[in-house]
Amino acid sequence: METFATQVHSPFDPEHHRIERVLCFTAHPDDIDFGAAGTIAAWTAAGVQVSYCIMTDGDAGGFDPDKREEVSGLRNAEQRRAAALVGVTDIHYLHQRDGYLEPSHEVIREVVRLIRQLRPDVVLSMHPERNWTRIQKSHPDHLAVGEAVTRAVYPALENPFAYPELAEAGLEAYKLPYLWLFAGPEERENHFVDVTGQVDGKLAAIHVHASQHPDVDAMDRTVRTLMLRTAERGGLPAGHSAEAFHVVSVNGPGTIAGF
Ligand SMILES: [Zn+2]
Repeated sequence: METFATQVHSPFDPEHHRIERVLCFTAHPDDIDFGAAGTIAAWTAAGVQVSYCIMTDGDAGGFDPDKREEVSGLRNAEQRRAAALVGVTDIHYLHQRDGYLEPSHEVIREVVRLIRQLRPDVVLSMHPERNWTRIQKSHPDHLAVGEAVTRAVYPALENPFAYPELAEAGLEAYKLPYLWLFAGPEERENHFVDVTGQVDGKLAAIHVHASQHPDVDAMDRTVRTLMLRTAERGGLPAGHSAEAFHVVSVNGPGTIAGF
C-alpha cells in the first residue's frame, strides 16, 4: 500500500498501518467492481487476502423479462469471474432479497459472524449516507449495507454479550481497526487511492457483469471519466485515476471503551 495511496485528513497512514486481510460488504453483484476493484486489484497484487460478502443475489437486476428465473445464478457466476480478475476467490452471500435489504438484527448478526470468522484489518463497505449528487449510488440496498455494517462493527462485533450465540459457537469478540466506506457523499471522502495502473483491470471486471450493461461503451466512458475526476478531487496529478473512500478509525491507540 506504500506507493499508491494519497490522503486528505485520512486516519489511515499507509506508511504505518499494514493491511493483511480485507473483508468487503456490498448489496449486489457488481457494486464492488464499480466502487473499489482498482484498490482491490492493488491490494491482492501486494499479497493482501481479500474476501467479499454480497448481501443479496441481485435477483431484481438485468433487463430481459424472459430471464427472471436465471438472473441470480447468472449474476453470481459473473461476480465469481469478475472477482477472479482482481485476485479474489473467497465470496460469501447472505441471500437477502434484492430491493428488500434492511439493517435488521438478522443481517447485522451475520455481518458480525463473518467479521469474527475472518478477523480482517479493514472492513470495506458501502456508505450508509446518501449521495445527493449522484443518487444512483445510493440505492436503498446500498444504504442498508452501510447501516448494517456500521452497526455491526460497533458495538456488537466487540461485545461478547451481543448475539451471544456467536460467542457460544466459538466466535470471539473482535476489535476492528478500520472501516473503509465507498459510494457515499463526496464531502465525506478522506482517502484517495491512486489506481491509474489498475484502470484497465477494473474495467475488465466491470465488463464481466454483462447482464447489467445495455451500453458497454457509454458505461466505460463514464467510469473512466469519474475516476479521473475522483483523482482531481484527491489532488493527484492530472491524468491519474483514483477511487475514494471515507476511512473511519474504529479502534486505534486513542480509543476508549464507551464514548
Ligand atoms: Zn448495487
